[in-house]
Amino acid sequence: MCRDSCRGRRVAGTILVVEDEAILRERLAYNSTREGYLVELAADGPAAIAPSRKAKPDLIAIDLMLPGVDGFEVCRSVRRESNVPILKLTARDGEVDGRVGLEIGADDYLTKPFSMRELMARVRAMLRRARMTEGGPHGEPYPAGHHPLDHLRTDDRSAAT
Ligand code: CA
Repeated sequence: MCRDSCRGRRVAGTILVVEDEAILRERLAYNSTREGYLVELAADGPAAIAPSRKAKPDLIAIDLMLPGVDGFEVCRSVRRESNVPILKLTARDGEVDGRVGLEIGADDYLTKPFSMRELMARVRAMLRRARMTEGGPHGEPYPAGHHPLDHLRTDDRSAAT
């Protein structure tokens, strides 16, 4: 599948974005791509089911308020076949928050409006958690710059010269 043009480029993972609002969908795609993720897009529930099977995304970010088949239904359908982490995007609504809380499991959710920084931080954390669960010691146990031996690398000889 991967042609020469993408060889050597490290892909951080594939994200399936399901969002019916075109502007938000494009912003999610733009920011995810910029962070090194491959992005699949779907504008409604039925359109999300096929790529969730075919592209085998590493994470699904889905708006729960979709026309037709809503996000809850899509999540249940995906869950029957896969343990992919699902980040649910919700409107500020008490009833929806309650349902999300009950069905959240190992997933996570963000209440709209959210910043893209917040979203990407959530995505990274979820992918890291998923990799550590799957990959055990081969995951990424320490965030960049937080390795316990980092302090040994600091160069403070300048003070002595
Ligand atoms: Ca929506």
